[in-house]
Amino acid sequence: MNIPTSQALFEKANQFIPGGVNSPVRAFKAVGGTPLFIKSAKGPYIFDEDGNRYLELINSWGPMILGHGHELVEKAVSDAVQHSFSFGAPTRREVEMAERIVGMVPSVEKVRMVNSGTEATMSAIRVARGFTGRDKIIKFEGCYHGHADSFLIAAGSGAVTFGTPDSPGVPKGVAQDTLTAPYNNLEAVQLLVDANPGQIAAIIIEPVVGNMGCVLPETGFLEGLRSICDKEGIIYIFDEVMTGFRLSKGGAQERFGVLPDMTTLGKIIGGGMPVGAYGGKEEIMNYVSPAGPVYQAGTLSGNPIAMAAGLAMLDYLDTHQEIYLQLDQSGVKLAQGFRASMEKLGLNYTVNQIGSMYTLFFTDQVVRDFPSAKSSDLGLYGKYFHAMLNRGIYLGASQFESMFLSTALEDSHLEEIMRANEESLKEILA
Ligand code: PLP
Repeated sequence: MNIPTSQALFEKANQFIPGGVNSPVRAFKAVGGTPLFIKSAKGPYIFDEDGNRYLELINSWGPMILGHGHELVEKAVSDAVQHSFSFGAPTRREVEMAERIVGMVPSVEKVRMVNSGTEATMSAIRVARGFTGRDKIIKFEGCYHGHADSFLIAAGSGAVTFGTPDSPGVPKGVAQDTLTAPYNNLEAVQLLVDANPGQIAAIIIEPVVGNMGCVLPETGFLEGLRSICDKEGIIYIFDEVMTGFRLSKGGAQERFGVLPDMTTLGKIIGGGMPVGAYGGKEEIMNYVSPAGPVYQAGTLSGNPIAMAAGLAMLDYLDTHQEIYLQLDQSGVKLAQGFRASMEKLGLNYTVNQIGSMYTLFFTDQVVRDFPSAKSSDLGLYGKYFHAMLNRGIYLGASQFESMFLSTALEDSHLEEIMRANEESLKEILA
C-alpha cells in the first residue's frame, strides 16, 4: 500500500496533536504502522489522501449504517445549513427528534439530546445518582462507556488497547464508587449488590459488547440483571451507543425483549454528526434540569444541523425496517464464510457475530467476557489487520473492537471480504 501523503500528514500531526490523532484508536498503535488519513467516502468505500480505496467495515465506528453519503442525510444537512448553524434556543427539529426516539426505542419515555456518547453516559449516571440518592455504580470489565472519570475503570476499547484500562487522572474518590463485575456473570453482580446494600445507584451495561470486540450476552444474563435491579431499586442502564438503531430499530432492548430504566444513545442517532442522547422512564427523566434538580446542559445540544442529519437517518430506518434483515443476513454470511475458510485452513479461531456487528478473535476459546477476549493473540491480529488493509479492507485497528456492517455492502463486496479474509489468514500463518 502506497501511503506517502498519510505518512507526511502523520509526521506533521505528531508535532501539533498528542500522538498525532484526536482519538487514540485511530493511531494504529495496537497494530503498528501509519494511520491512513481519510479524504472522502461514498457508499461502502473510503478513500485515503493517496487515492487508495478500501471497503469499509468500521463506518466511523458505527454511525454510517447506510454507508457513506446517503442522499437523504446529505440533503437534510444541506437544507439545514441555509438557516444558520446554531441558535442556542429550542427548535422544531428537537421536538421531532425526541418524538421519533420515543417512538422507536421501547423503554424511552423522555429524552435529552447531548453531543456525544460520553456525555450521554456521564449524564445518565448523574441522573441515576440524583434519583436514587446513592453514589456507587456497577459496570462490567471490558465494557467502554466513553471517557468520563467514572467509566475509566477496567474499560475496554482504546483504554485496554493502550494498556490503560484504569487511567491516571481519575480521582481515587471517583474510582472507588465504580464497582466492576465480569461480563456474563450474574453471581458476581449479586455478590457486589449484597456487599453494598442500598448503595448502588445504577448498573450500566453494553447489552451487546462492542468494546472488547463483539461479545454477546448469554441467555438469561440481561434478564437476571433486570430482576436484581428491580429487587434492589437500582437503575438499569443500557448503553446502546453502539447497538441503538443497529441491532434493530429499537436497539438491543427490542431485539432481546429486556427493558432498561434508562438508555444511552449516540453514533447512528447523529447520522455521522456529533450527537448523543440519554432517556428513560418519565419519572426518572423528570429529575433533569430544568424539570428537576439534576443539572445537565449544553451550548450546542440539539444543534440544528446535527438534528437534521440524525432525523433523516432515523426517519429512514423507521420506515425501511427491511434493512435489519439485510444487515442480519450480511453478518451471518460473513461469519459463516469466515468459519468455512478457517475449517479449510485447519484453524479454530472464534467468530462472534450478531446482526451487523462481528469480531474475529485470534483465540480458540469461547469469547464471553474480558479474560477470554484477552486470550486472543494480539500480534497475530496486527498482522491480519495489515494483510486485510493491503487487500483493500478497512478494519478496526485493534482486536478489542467490533466491525460494523452497512447496508451499502452488497453480496459482491461480502464475497470480496471473505476472499481477502481467507488469503490474509493463509499469508499470516504461512
Ligand atoms: N458507549 C459506548 C458503548 C461506546 O461504544 C462509546 C464509543 O465508542 C461511547 C459510549 C462513547 O461515545 P463517544 O465516543 O461518542 O463519546
